[in-house]
Amino acid sequence: MISIAIDGPAGAGKSTIARRVAQRLGYLYVDTGALYRAIALHMLREGTNPAVPEEVISRLDSVQVSLQYVEGEQQVLLDTENVSNSIRTPEVAAASSKVSAIPQVREFLLSLQRNLAKQNDVVMDGRDIGTVVLPNAQVKIFLTASLEERARRRWKELLEKGDADFNTVLADVKQRDEQDTTRAIAPLVQAPDAILVDTTGITLEQSIDRMLAVIHERLSQ
Ligand code: C5P
Repeated sequence: MISIAIDGPAGAGKSTIARRVAQRLGYLYVDTGALYRAIALHMLREGTNPAVPEEVISRLDSVQVSLQYVEGEQQVLLDTENVSNSIRTPEVAAASSKVSAIPQVREFLLSLQRNLAKQNDVVMDGRDIGTVVLPNAQVKIFLTASLEERARRRWKELLEKGDADFNTVLADVKQRDEQDTTRAIAPLVQAPDAILVDTTGITLEQSIDRMLAVIHERLSQ
């Protein structure tokens, strides 16, 4: 099986780019952030404070999270409910960053992620895929863009759904970067053998082409 690991900060365009790259390669696209978001949503719905590890850990047993693929599109399920849309809110994003810092939460999701890569050729995106989840991935890419550009992209996405304030989005992205890069367990870092792709100032199509070129080059080595 072939695994392509894509890591990077919030708003680098990872999920859009990774999904399109997976389509072009005919691989399964796995958005691991959706798993952390689903756990966060579950905690919020239960009234569990995502910032208090003991509370979250004690509620983990009640979480039934899984992924299913419908016409190639990933859906994330809590029990049997498709929560793919409900997890895309700023509240859930902030909560997911908090629960993802808890070692037991990361452990809880590890085998699910690894099993997918055992059974399928995958393009898997997240924060620790090349470093922790799939350290033997054939291709590792660290995808990034400047903070302002990432915030601008997130802001535009949110504007399409309703009202959004740029400075609030910028502060949120900055805070999530801070949390994701400084946490004690599986912090967001570029794996030593990952190739850096910076999408600042280039279009989506150009980013996809660059990724595909990097992947083909690595796989042919
Ligand atoms: O990528 P996305 O923004 O959906 O991820 C939500 C949150 O989940 C991130 O802020 C990060 O804290 C966490 N995450 C993680 N490890 C991953 C994927 C996401 O810690 N592999």
